[in-house]
Amino acid sequence: MNLRLRLVLYVAFALTLESKEPPLRILIIEDEPRMLELLRQGLYEHGFTVMTACDGETGLEIATAHELDAIVLDIGLPKLDGFALMQSLRVRARMTPVLMLTARDTEDDIIRGLDLGADDYLTKPFSFPELVARLQSITRRAREGGDGTIKAGDVAIDPVRHTVTRSGEGIDLTRLEFLLLTCLVRRVGQCVPRQTLMEFIWGTDHPVGTTALDVLVNSLRAKIDAPYRRKMICTVRGSGYLFRNSALEGKS
Ligand code: CA
Repeated sequence: MNLRLRLVLYVAFALTLESKEPPLRILIIEDEPRMLELLRQGLYEHGFTVMTACDGETGLEIATAHELDAIVLDIGLPKLDGFALMQSLRVRARMTPVLMLTARDTEDDIIRGLDLGADDYLTKPFSFPELVARLQSITRRAREGGDGTIKAGDVAIDPVRHTVTRSGEGIDLTRLEFLLLTCLVRRVGQCVPRQTLMEFIWGTDHPVGTTALDVLVNSLRAKIDAPYRRKMICTVRGSGYLFRNSALEGKS
């Protein structure tokens, strides 16, 4: 290689290094060894920093112990399935974006995953460029959210510090009230079914009666709605609850 070519290559390499953001850190949780290796190798070649886990428990441990940019999560997993894992993550207020991978192309599974806080999903088989594009999109969305605050109208939730404000005033919530509010605000403008709320708050292993949810909604309303003119939490009869998006609706 002559000197000039070597110099051009060196400058090009240096420019690439300078313009690059730090690689995105991705955790892949997948129990099929071939699929896991395919994902690991492929994402590594696309410039991601990759960690892996082949069961749900290990995945949850890594996801709670490390700062990650995104998680690629298989649903059918040993020890702890993808749904339970996601629920545990969100209960611990870890808002790392999650891309679900599912072989189950049923609408119910997809809706359940999104309800539990997944950011996006892909059904197997999928194309690699699509996986990369989706990962870039969910991590970009999370980064643009800046400090990670979840907002709806004048209500703001900081999932890391576990603090809530309305019109800039701090509101003290219990852990369960906080979970209920987070679940509603993440789906602002949509009716969240009672069952979804109960699973998100109490989990599927500890079923509670439906009155427990009503009691919790009342105590949340007393703090987040009662002192204010505009009520944000609406009851959808026979179905669930909805957090209003005041930006889209007229005055009540
Ligand atoms: Ca699997």
